[in-house]
Amino acid sequence: MSIQIQNVWKQYGTFQALQQINLEIPKGELVALLGPSGSGKTTLLRIIAGLEQADQGAILFDGEDLTDIHVKNRQVGFVFQHYALFKHMNVFENVAFGLKVRKKKLRPSAAEIEEKVLELLRLVKMDGFAARYPAQLSGGQRQRIALARALAVEPKILLLDEPFGALDAKVRKELRRWLRKLHDEFQITSVFVTHDQEEALDVADRIVVMNEGRIEQMGTPEEVYDNPASPFVYDFLGNVNLFHGRVRKGKLNLGSIELEAPEHVHISDADAVAYVRPHQLSITRTKQGIDAIPAKVIYTHAVGPVVYIELKRDDADEYLEAEVSKEQFEQLKIRTGEVVYAHLKEVKVFIPEDFVI
Ligand code: ATP
Repeated sequence: MSIQIQNVWKQYGTFQALQQINLEIPKGELVALLGPSGSGKTTLLRIIAGLEQADQGAILFDGEDLTDIHVKNRQVGFVFQHYALFKHMNVFENVAFGLKVRKKKLRPSAAEIEEKVLELLRLVKMDGFAARYPAQLSGGQRQRIALARALAVEPKILLLDEPFGALDAKVRKELRRWLRKLHDEFQITSVFVTHDQEEALDVADRIVVMNEGRIEQMGTPEEVYDNPASPFVYDFLGNVNLFHGRVRKGKLNLGSIELEAPEHVHISDADAVAYVRPHQLSITRTKQGIDAIPAKVIYTHAVGPVVYIELKRDDADEYLEAEVSKEQFEQLKIRTGEVVYAHLKEVKVFIPEDFVI
């Protein structure tokens, strides 16, 4: 089922929680709503679910306006971070619940329910746990049961609000792979709220980046990561070095160095900020070329395949972060306290005045 969100606005008292939200989610897509705390992700998810009313705008499923359709009749499944399983029911009864409470006409037989529940438990690798109670499960196991329970009623749309938020990093990673697999197998349309960039980039077909109740950018993980539309998206999607300078007719002046900024050739003179990801900053021990920035090594962290290096610019009171492979690090033989040269390999230049909200 496709989802269309048309010009949705929502206000709480005087606070504008959502503004002018327009979004089309084709059938079968897994979309992540990504943004910082308070950006409106949950509010939007609850409006899609029918748990909350928009002040203005419409929600359509497969072209049908559902604005006035009750949550019960929207064919959506939910998984929430704190959507506790029914404590007094065992795993089997929890997963069967949505089927058992159906009206008699629509309710499958006891044998059909059993078959379905056991199949779902197999799918989430929880067969053998049917008789356990929620208190006897780990957090990750509980969320797998919550997923199975949501899927039992064969929803057309699956809505998930930080479903793995309370779990540790390793379990989160495993469960998001699960989610992807189940989403594909069931061929549903899923909307997934998270504030975790890595989670969104890893699992989603498309990411909707939200900020202060608005959509900042939407696109595939590659599009939003490689081509952020605003400084906010750039910042939010990973570590970044900022260089303040000026742009004049396609040249970016950063004090001691000047770089090409061909996308701004039409600007005669403006303040500019250059964004450079840590892995796009390369380091040499000797000065190579005129665009090298001298910087002192403050700190190195060499655990794992990527080495993190913190530097302080010699020509300005600014700190830089670089990431190099362990191999490069060993070749460079960098020591804390020595001066090296930073080169900006890939730079994205924003003109702040274009982004004043
Ligand atoms: P988080 O990641 O912290 O859950 P979020 O992006 O999901 O954040 P929302 O829960 O959608 O954000 O909240 C958006 C804003 O609306 C917040 O500032 C919140 O305080 C406010 N808000 C949400 N629900 C209500 C409510 N029922 N009454 C008043 N304000 C609310």
